Amino acid sequence: MPTQIGLSVLNNVPALMAYADRHERYLFNNNAYRDWYGIDPQAALGKTMREVLGETNYRRLEPFITRVLAGEAVQYEQELLTVGRPRYVHGSYSPDVGPDGAVRGFFILVSDISERRALEVRLIESEARFSGAFQSAAIGMAIVSPEGRYLQVNAAMCQMLGYSADEFNDLLFQEITHPDDLASDVAATIALLESRQHSYAMEKRYRHKTGADVHAILSVSLVRDGAGVPLYFVSQVQDITDRKVAEERLFREHELSQVTLRSIGDAVVTTDVAGRITYLNPVAETLTGWRLEEAHGHHVDEVYRAISYERGAAILNPLTLAVSEERVIWLGTGTILQQRDGREIPVEDSAAPIRDRSGAVVGGVLVFHDVTQQRALAGQMEHMAHHDALTDLPNRTLFRDRLEQAVSHAHRTGGCVAVLFCDLDRFKHVNDTLGHAVGDRVLVEAASRLRQCIGSGDTLSRWAGDEFGILLPQTHVSARSVSVLAEQVVAAVSAPFHLEGLLDPVEIGISVGISLYPLDARSSDALMQAADVALYDVKRNGRGSYQFFAEAMNEGARERVSMEAILRQALRNDALELEFQPRINLTSGRATSVEALVRLRHDGELIQPTRFIRIAEETGLITLVGHWVIEAVCGQLKAWGGTALRDLRVSINVSPMQARRDDFYASLIAATEKYGIAARQIELEITETTLVEPKPRITDGLTSLQKAGFTVSLDDFGTGYSSLSYLNRLPIDTLKIDRSFTRDIASPQGGAIVAAIVALGKALGKGIVAEGVETEAQLAWLRAIGCEEVQGFLFAPPVGAHDLERILREGGLLPTEA
Ligand code: C2E
Ligand code: MG
Ligand code: MG
Repeated sequence: MPTQIGLSVLNNVPALMAYADRHERYLFNNNAYRDWYGIDPQAALGKTMREVLGETNYRRLEPFITRVLAGEAVQYEQELLTVGRPRYVHGSYSPDVGPDGAVRGFFILVSDISERRALEVRLIESEARFSGAFQSAAIGMAIVSPEGRYLQVNAAMCQMLGYSADEFNDLLFQEITHPDDLASDVAATIALLESRQHSYAMEKRYRHKTGADVHAILSVSLVRDGAGVPLYFVSQVQDITDRKVAEERLFREHELSQVTLRSIGDAVVTTDVAGRITYLNPVAETLTGWRLEEAHGHHVDEVYRAISYERGAAILNPLTLAVSEERVIWLGTGTILQQRDGREIPVEDSAAPIRDRSGAVVGGVLVFHDVTQQRALAGQMEHMAHHDALTDLPNRTLFRDRLEQAVSHAHRTGGCVAVLFCDLDRFKHVNDTLGHAVGDRVLVEAASRLRQCIGSGDTLSRWAGDEFGILLPQTHVSARSVSVLAEQVVAAVSAPFHLEGLLDPVEIGISVGISLYPLDARSSDALMQAADVALYDVKRNGRGSYQFFAEAMNEGARERVSMEAILRQALRNDALELEFQPRINLTSGRATSVEALVRLRHDGELIQPTRFIRIAEETGLITLVGHWVIEAVCGQLKAWGGTALRDLRVSINVSPMQARRDDFYASLIAATEKYGIAARQIELEITETTLVEPKPRITDGLTSLQKAGFTVSLDDFGTGYSSLSYLNRLPIDTLKIDRSFTRDIASPQGGAIVAAIVALGKALGKGIVAEGVETEAQLAWLRAIGCEEVQGFLFAPPVGAHDLERILREGGLLPTEA
């Protein structure tokens, strides 16, 4: 039993102390029973625990009571209902074992641990809260051992780096840190461990399980135990990869735009919404004359001073307009930029508003470039389009424009206009013999001479090759003044051209055809045509002169066009025919040869060669005509074989253009071979024009034909330019005196000329034929002066092949008597 002192101690401890017997009756209670259960300790003695503690409490303790009575020392924690409030208690029941080994009763010690319990509960709750927060946190969280091993990670962390929670447990943070970021991370953890820091945060890169970089912001703190020993790191990891990527892209875009702006050829200026400069690229600096540092903050109007190209007045800055009207402004050409030093350059500009993310206008951008070069180029091209490159004269296009203007002006004012169509004579000859370089110099010189002939309001133009046009647009133009000018033109170009580097002067001439508005035509086209027709006439009548258009010429032009069509058709339809005119030997009185003369059958009518040979030559169709004639002549000679005409020689007229072609000689030989004709049966009649061509090829060709047995005669002798001196050297057997000389025989002078020609020809060893003998008087004179052969209507006109034999027979002219 407790002593008195012990009793008072027992009574005053803040715990229940008691002793109960094996029937659960209290044999001792301390004072605490009064506080806890509201019962006087004395009064509780002898009472059962069930009575004192109440039914509820008893049922909670009954299991422990049972166990202590069975001899077991029992400890428990339990909530009990006590006065004022429930108490959470720690109880211990110790069995009191008698000497017989049986449990006599037990000691009861119950202390109030409500406060500790409450603390514990709070701890549990807070732990649960932490773990909840930890697991479900949106950012990655990890508990990491001081060595760096992951002890625990949350779902976000797994998600972020691709490892499962279990896999993490085998990982050190060092293993999944980007090598470049490892050193600083490790250093920071060491700083924490050495207490130099409480926590740290850094941007670092992790390695995702797939190997990809994961950019993150890491914050770490270190948890220590009560003794200050490091327990673990708590890490928070925020994935900022997306942000990084966006930042990187932004950076690149910024870089790109900077580089672009610096390197493009356009000037770029940006401003804020008030028009104050925020940026100038280098080109803008050069063009405006302002440097970015100087211009910054200035109003754009100070830096970009634009004035109108046409009006010279300042124009509203396109940027101001773009910002105020919130739209793109294109000004295009026509703007002049006044540079800082006052110089002016033409520019092309455009402006646009700059908007922020929400679409609000926050500034403007102005883009412009220097178009000085384009302007100059455009001017140059414009000039080139309208001028001839060689002489720099206006070309045909510009001439026509001006002519049209002149015509419409003359129409309004009742004035006159003259068109002079000029063509250089013998220019082709110069080009062919002296080369194109000399030809070009002649053209340039001719142009400058022509230029000196005309007045300031007139237009001299080069149309093509050696063709020039002159336009006199004055209202006072009269036929007289125009002919004065035309005379000057002809004289100017006829004077010899002394060209540097050439020993001999070049001699050319010019032919001019003239038409007048409103006399000859009323439209510019018709005026050009009329001048062309007049020119053609000049050329036909011997060149080196000028001529006004006359209506009659126009008919000639029309005929020319339709004749060409007829000729083409005839060639297609084989509508050409041959007539033959005999040539009589005055000694034998018989025909020795016949001249083949081509005709064209059209609508039943026989058209003479005088109407179509020139056109054939101008259009180049002469080659086809000539070919046809050769074939037809050979065919005819073959047909005459075995008849009375078998010994006739046939002479063929060869146009200069034909003779110039290399294939002429081969095709002649081919035809004779094809029909089995001997060369001596064919004579070629060439004209002096053919020989004037100083092409050795032609002479060579003729010489070789001569060697092959063909004979060559010079037709229309006396009408060309031929100098008698060279006749000697040329491959010619016979001279055919032109019929204009025969016609003039009756006059004393004419007779003398023919006599001289005959004498000369004989002296040179050439045969002589007189053409166009029509009268007995002519024949008598020709006989008298020793002319050997004659041809003319007096003996026989040209006749068709069928009539030839009859005509010859009737005239007693057959070469040999059948
Ligand atoms: P040409 O070679 O001088 O031919 C002689 C021309 O004088 C022929 O005219 C003939 O009919 C004509 N004639 C003959 N005798 C007399 C006469 O007594 N009095 C008059 N007044 N005239 C006479 P045609 O047939 O009209 O031929 C004219 C020209 O056409 C020829 O002149 C010749 O240069 C050319 N020609 C004719 N046929 C051909 C041909 O096949 N090829 C070429 N390239 N030219 C041809
Ligand atoms: Mg002839
Ligand atoms: Mg002739």
